[in-house]
Amino acid sequence: MDRHFCPASEWLHPADAEDILRASAPDVGRVREVLAKARELKGLDAAEVAALCGIATPDLAEELFVTARQVKEEIYGRRMVLFAPLYISNVCGNDCTYCAFRSANKALPRTALSMDGIRSDVRELVKQGHKRLLMVAGEGYAASRGGFDYVLDAIRAVYDVTEAHGHIRRLNVNLAPLTVEEFAQLKKAEIGTYQLFQETYHRDTYAAVHLSGRKRDFDWRATALDRAMQAGIDDVGMGVLFGLADWRFEILSLMQHIAHLEDAFGVGCHTISVPRMEPADGSDVSINPPAPVSDDDFRKIIAILRLAVPYTGIILSTRESAAIRRECYALGVSQISAGSRTNPGGYSEGETTSGQFQLGDHRSLDEVIAELAAMGFIPSFCTACYRLGRTGQDFMDLAKPGLIKQKCDPNAVTTFLEYLTDYGSDSARCVGEAAIACELDKMGARTRRNAEKMLAHIRAGKRDVFC
Ligand code: SAM
Ligand code: SF4
Repeated sequence: MDRHFCPASEWLHPADAEDILRASAPDVGRVREVLAKARELKGLDAAEVAALCGIATPDLAEELFVTARQVKEEIYGRRMVLFAPLYISNVCGNDCTYCAFRSANKALPRTALSMDGIRSDVRELVKQGHKRLLMVAGEGYAASRGGFDYVLDAIRAVYDVTEAHGHIRRLNVNLAPLTVEEFAQLKKAEIGTYQLFQETYHRDTYAAVHLSGRKRDFDWRATALDRAMQAGIDDVGMGVLFGLADWRFEILSLMQHIAHLEDAFGVGCHTISVPRMEPADGSDVSINPPAPVSDDDFRKIIAILRLAVPYTGIILSTRESAAIRRECYALGVSQISAGSRTNPGGYSEGETTSGQFQLGDHRSLDEVIAELAAMGFIPSFCTACYRLGRTGQDFMDLAKPGLIKQKCDPNAVTTFLEYLTDYGSDSARCVGEAAIACELDKMGARTRRNAEKMLAHIRAGKRDVFC
């Protein structure tokens, strides 16, 4: 059998995940041993992850958080990559009980944006300063709009838009599972990461919340990232919708999924997203999730993932409130969205009732950026790796020995200065320039020289400078 098409049952072993969790009694000594190993930045195995999942006291949780902050700082420094979601369509043939776009929600006004509509939204996002977008859609590309070609046309429309100061330099996508041939077309259309959340790895829960439509097929979804990689997309993003099943079980299952991709393709996932259930119109499940995740556990999830797969990006969206986001940045998050809308056309027409779920953070990109800089982070719009072909294993080969920092640090301050110069408010500029100066002081001599050279190019009016 082609190893890339092995069924999920060959690598997803729920009984193993449950056994490991059951065997892992809370033990302070064992947790400290695992935290010490995590500080070596080599990641953790399933039993070690299970030990951290069992942390039950605030003191031990604090030790976990301290370690996660150290690992995050060591690998990612103070960089924080920014992006916005671009919802192109809320037309959907699936009945996922937690989502406002579910086919059973007849009250939701449905829209599949025209190419002009997409360009209008993208123009607004470029005007705010965005360089990286995540395209999102319901699963239902109407034949009248060209079927799957609608998505390919939409990607072209996004990359087509150029405003005075810029254009979108990296478009990631979060779309329903595709065939290998369709994935190959996505790759040709020059997407960045292909992102797909399994929602839950718990088969019975999966069956209970996906009532009809293509998405009911657990295995079609669970094997989608194999097909994407088979088609040559080597940056893939995973995720779990937290709130559906026990979060500890989900994390151990996610580890099995990552291990499978590593075995089959030599590289795991590029990013992990941690969406937590938010109230959605037309969905009782979203208001009373079967396995709600508390704020305390949510912080643990981020910290444990940071230690388990230290080189994998963690993405935090505006589903979460500004307060939770602030606490989670340092625990391991490397990418955040800002200024988001989840209704198609939301950037040019404003927020309407046709969004996917309630947002927790309504602040503008500029407000989020000013706050990040004041907290000592360097907001980054870097797209260098993807554009220089440093993806998949090539990226990991640079990341694991710590070499990628020499690229990421100068690219982050350079794209940040570009933002401040072209789009930043006075207050963002003031706090941002101070954050850049502080960051330069922390760089090694060679990296600093390179960064200063690149910053000088931006100050002289050059744009899109990267290494
Ligand atoms: N329709 C495609 C699919 O389901 O794969 C594309 C992505 S869907 C629009 C984006 C993600 O939103 C889903 O994978 C799910 O995890 C998340 N989502 C759905 N309902 C949500 C809710 N009520 N709260 C938070 N996230 C939700
Ligand atoms: Fe459709 Fe995706 Fe929402 Fe499910 S999660 S109803 S597939 S948009």
